[in-house]
Amino acid sequence: MRLILLGAPGVGKGTQARKIALEFNIPHVSTGDILRAEISSQSILGRKAEEFVHTGKLVPDEIVLQMIKEEFKTDKFKAGFLMDGFPRTLEQAENFSKLLKELNLNINKVINISIDENEIIRRITNRIVCKDCEKVFKLSDFEEDENLKCDFCGSELYKRKDDSEEVIKNRLEVYKAQTEPLVEFYKNQGLLENVDGLGTENEIFERILARL
Ligand code: AMP
Repeated sequence: MRLILLGAPGVGKGTQARKIALEFNIPHVSTGDILRAEISSQSILGRKAEEFVHTGKLVPDEIVLQMIKEEFKTDKFKAGFLMDGFPRTLEQAENFSKLLKELNLNINKVINISIDENEIIRRITNRIVCKDCEKVFKLSDFEEDENLKCDFCGSELYKRKDDSEEVIKNRLEVYKAQTEPLVEFYKNQGLLENVDGLGTENEIFERILARL
């Protein structure tokens, strides 16, 4: 199964991506997770990307494309993959199609999850993330003085710098201008499946499975 997950920030892509990858036993490639790891280790790539990520702007295409080319040098993607947060621009999508063609691989489906903008802002301002496994939690599920720990790996939970209300608005604008055109791009290729992102994690997961 070779899949791409599309959707604005905060629609639940990361959460669904983890479930799908587990279900089909395929690698989950999140460019956001890769970039955050590079930033936290302060690698050369991380230092180049930091300002963009923290202000909600897209990291330049050439940096992200280089990262993906490196990832795809290994054989582990032959049997399948799930892209989460990539591609995010037409330039990335076109280059990714080229790369897959060179590798003799094709995409089976592109899942586009959507919800309305107010719900997105509500969700993102309420979200905290595990600093190690990136599992997502709701701040409102914790008591005020409760320890913010991940129930999966036990690590600390934190609020992403780009999850402030100010930066989210920026990220949504960037999404509309640069990433939304990909919906049409993949629709024209007959690959697009639209999924309503309102509901419980499991309801949305079932909707996705029904389209695959
Ligand atoms: P995400 O975790 O997918 O919400 O990504 C967080 C941030 O990482 C984005 O706001 C961008 O700054 C950067 N980023 C992640 N994926 C990409 C991509 N494919 N192209 C450019 N920037 C990206």
